[in-house]
Amino acid sequence: MFPAHPFDTDAFLPDVADEDKLKEECGIFGVVGVKDAANFVALGLHALQHRGQEAGGIVSHDPEAGFNSARRFGYVRDNFTSQSVMETLPGPLAIGHVRYSTAGSKGQTAIRDVQPFFGEFSMGGAAIAHNGNITNANALRRELIERGSIFQSSSDSECIIHLMARSMGRSIPDRMEDALKKVEGAFSVVAMTRTKLIGVRDPLGVRPLVLGQVGDGWVLSSETCALDIIGAKFVREIEPGEMVVINDKGVESHFPFRRAKSRFCIFEHVYFSRPDSIIGGRSVYETREAIGMELAKEAPVEADLVCPVPDSGTPAAIGYARQSGIPYGMGIIRNQYVGRTFIEPTEQIRNMGVRLKLNVNRALIDGKRVILVDDSVVRGTTSRKIKEMILDAGAAEVHFRIASPPTAWPCFYGVDTPQREKLLAATMSEEEMRDHLAVDSLKFISLDGLYRAVGQSQGRNPDAPQYCDACFSGEYPVKPADMIEQGFELKAAE
Ligand code: SF4
Repeated sequence: MFPAHPFDTDAFLPDVADEDKLKEECGIFGVVGVKDAANFVALGLHALQHRGQEAGGIVSHDPEAGFNSARRFGYVRDNFTSQSVMETLPGPLAIGHVRYSTAGSKGQTAIRDVQPFFGEFSMGGAAIAHNGNITNANALRRELIERGSIFQSSSDSECIIHLMARSMGRSIPDRMEDALKKVEGAFSVVAMTRTKLIGVRDPLGVRPLVLGQVGDGWVLSSETCALDIIGAKFVREIEPGEMVVINDKGVESHFPFRRAKSRFCIFEHVYFSRPDSIIGGRSVYETREAIGMELAKEAPVEADLVCPVPDSGTPAAIGYARQSGIPYGMGIIRNQYVGRTFIEPTEQIRNMGVRLKLNVNRALIDGKRVILVDDSVVRGTTSRKIKEMILDAGAAEVHFRIASPPTAWPCFYGVDTPQREKLLAATMSEEEMRDHLAVDSLKFISLDGLYRAVGQSQGRNPDAPQYCDACFSGEYPVKPADMIEQGFELKAAE
């Protein structure tokens, strides 16, 4: 029923990571109760590759072979495809992780930083994979080292294993609960023991985690799109602050943390999640179209053509065109077959930059007043180059419409963001950004408009925001303690 080898077909190439985007740092996936669970995990991680392309790892457990692991740099399709690798990961229980790069190791990742992490405890082994960022990791790490812990990696996630080792809990789920109560920040965790698959979301549910079912087995995944690839049925989202422990008897649910109001990352709706995933009962694609429609209501302009900046701006551009009545067209074509491995080797190729990935559909653009819809502006470097390409192709006017508010603050919850001063919106007003990009007009969706588009008809509740929106508002739902210690200044109270 299922391919013995996870990539026995010519799978599609993952999208090229755009250098001027925020980057989700991790995707996690776990399966219990199926034959050769690692094959399912490899496919799940492949579907989550957009959440991290730097490295990936899988740990499996088999009653006879015990725990086994494989951790590699690069794409899942290049590392977890050969029979020789997959045969080393036997058993009915496996978890996996793809990463961009986690806190503490940017630009100098070693294989020891690649998850899942493994620990041997008196009651048996356990492996964990973490999506998010621990905001008090420096303080925890200092304390743990002073008390004798020996760290193997530079990753904040390893703190969880050491905190578990120090816990007096009688079972691994108890120890995990103890450990996670000491951790601050954003975490979705998938873990495994010899017999159990465990999933946990932090009390605010900043990062996603969903539960699925495949045959008699169970699945945990960052997103629903990765359930589809293995033919699993979506069961439900793991709730903020929930821990599920899954074994052959089924799913047990606990709420070990103090209950809090959900603050899910609103940027998952805008950009990080795949458009074919479901969040909060609604397809991400549909939400992005609604964002485009809201943007058209807020920021109309007379023009001849609405063009997406592919691929992530596409649904919002379709929504903008529908609402405005202005024709939609693919004015920019993305070359689907440019991979990181191709653009990295030489400086000469790197300098070709955007033109290597995107080409203008000249016949469509020539002489037109063009609205370009993109999901976000981070440094603005790509936006500038795209504008130049559109003008070179003969556009009469270029209007940028952005499907998120200005990104003026860094994310400390598991998303790679440039330092604050490198964010265009941190140092410039909307008008200054328009002049800097040299476009005819530039408008961002408002924060309230974004909230309406994601389903909050009354907009943002300023007293109790329904989402994390810190990268737009500067209001951090969890104090970024480590960063404050390093000199980061929070927004002054108004
Ligand atoms: S700061 Fe932005 S990217 Fe980070 S979790 Fe919050 S909304 Fe998401």
